[in-house]
Amino acid sequence: MDNTLIAVDRSGSYRVYLTITTDLVEEARQIHGTTPLATAALGRTLTAAGVMGLMLKEERDRLTLQIKGDGPAVEILAAANGKGEVKGYISNPAVDLPLKSNGKLDVGGAVGSGSLTVIKDLGLKEPYIGHTDLVSGEIAEDITQYLLVSEQQPSSVALGVRVGEGGHVLSAGGMFIQVLPDAQDDALTALEDMLFLMDDLSLLILDAEEQTKGAPGVTSRLEKLMELIFGGLPEAYRPEILDRREIRWLCGCSRERMAQALVSIGANDLSEIIREDGKAQLVCQFCRKVYDFDREELEALLTYARQ
Ligand code: ZN
Repeated sequence: MDNTLIAVDRSGSYRVYLTITTDLVEEARQIHGTTPLATAALGRTLTAAGVMGLMLKEERDRLTLQIKGDGPAVEILAAANGKGEVKGYISNPAVDLPLKSNGKLDVGGAVGSGSLTVIKDLGLKEPYIGHTDLVSGEIAEDITQYLLVSEQQPSSVALGVRVGEGGHVLSAGGMFIQVLPDAQDDALTALEDMLFLMDDLSLLILDAEEQTKGAPGVTSRLEKLMELIFGGLPEAYRPEILDRREIRWLCGCSRERMAQALVSIGANDLSEIIREDGKAQLVCQFCRKVYDFDREELEALLTYARQ
């Protein structure tokens, strides 16, 4: 189901990507058994990677977003492609810290200081690698900084994940606003004022849901959300929808790929595993799926590795 809107304002000053990723982030939470804090950190990262995936030119292009800090979350990684398929993990899904004084989950504290790396595989010989220092570890600000410094794209990024009692995801989403080359100064001023006064995105998503109760699907919720955010702008600076896309969880791991990984460790290591354990168990770090290989299979892979 299309959960993402891409729009440009009538004056051609900015482009916006607006997405509601509640279902995606809840799926990730169930897979990784994350605490509320880890859910927020991973959910923000997955949502951002999903949107940045849609910005890629080709559907087969791929992107990895890695956030590595000295905080207890250690590393958060999300991978996405141009089709809007996204997967990810957090090294420490049990990370837990007291709430901040404003009552919010302390994602910045969980991440700490460190760096953000974006790797883009655009089907060229070498992947593109961009690297910036983290600004706050809150992820949205870090990505804003990355886009400006590494991609020379002035943007405003908002990411929100709201976790309810019992830890399930109440709402999650993201908004990326890109300033276009021929932007009008008045449009940008109006936009800045709007952003300054804007509520939390995760709260606005709940409002939009409340106001479209009974209407089917995520589309009406998204349009309502767009209206709640941009409705106060002068007509000329309000966004018009250009495209609707979907961002969804998909791992895509398989037995064949895991077997390939075993072959790639080399014949020596493989024969050592056969000698010492007689079996191997691989767990996909993205979806936690378990792949077991018995002696017979490992020996077949060893023969293959020796070729
Ligand atoms: Zn997997």
